[in-house]
Amino acid sequence: AFVVFEGGEGAGKSTQLAALAETLRQEGREVVVTREPGATDVGVRIRSLVLESTTAGTAPLSPRAEALLYAADRAHHVATVVRPALARGAVVISDRYVDSSLAYQGAGRTLPVDEVSWLSAWATGGLKPDLVVLLDVDPRAGLLRVTSRGAGKDRLEAESLDFHDRVRDAFLDLAAADPKRYLVLDGSGPVDQIAAAIAARVGGMLGE
Ligand code: C5P
Repeated sequence: AFVVFEGGEGAGKSTQLAALAETLRQEGREVVVTREPGATDVGVRIRSLVLESTTAGTAPLSPRAEALLYAADRAHHVATVVRPALARGAVVISDRYVDSSLAYQGAGRTLPVDEVSWLSAWATGGLKPDLVVLLDVDPRAGLLRVTSRGAGKDRLEAESLDFHDRVRDAFLDLAAADPKRYLVLDGSGPVDQIAAAIAARVGGMLGE
């Protein structure tokens, strides 16, 4: 099964992803935890290229070049990590996937979303997640959570709040359009309650 965590900055994806992985491992399942961008050697290099180029004070990448780099990271990630793990029956949990491109490169950078969608479909050979866990959080709160840790402060503050609002709305619209495939949770709620809701949904999906 292929489970994806999505959400804006500071939504709590990493914490919840680790909690789910731990729960599933305790049940004796093989779990592969992975992420985009940056899960492979080439992905790590792509990640630093795109993230450095979106930091204030550096020359920005053109939106199409940025979208192609995310797509290249994803193509390699799916081919070398995700598909092989799924083929041997592992549960793959990815921190971000296609929806991040639709939200950030599409809604955020205002590239046509249908074009970003077919680019992603081509990169992945059409591989879709079985479940997307969307941790929704107001960007005002999420950004504060992240920047108070000092992580990526310059980069995140280079984008307007309006950009982050568009990203958030895009995630919510994607979830609303395909409710069976999504679990949408308020990322500002108690960590334990969120973890329990995710474990229940994934447990039901995997068949306990
Ligand atoms: O959540 P994570 O730290 O992996 O994301 C790194 C950054 O990459 C995020 O802050 C997000 O702004 C950016 N990103 C993006 N487009 C994607 C995936 C991530 O702009 N498709």
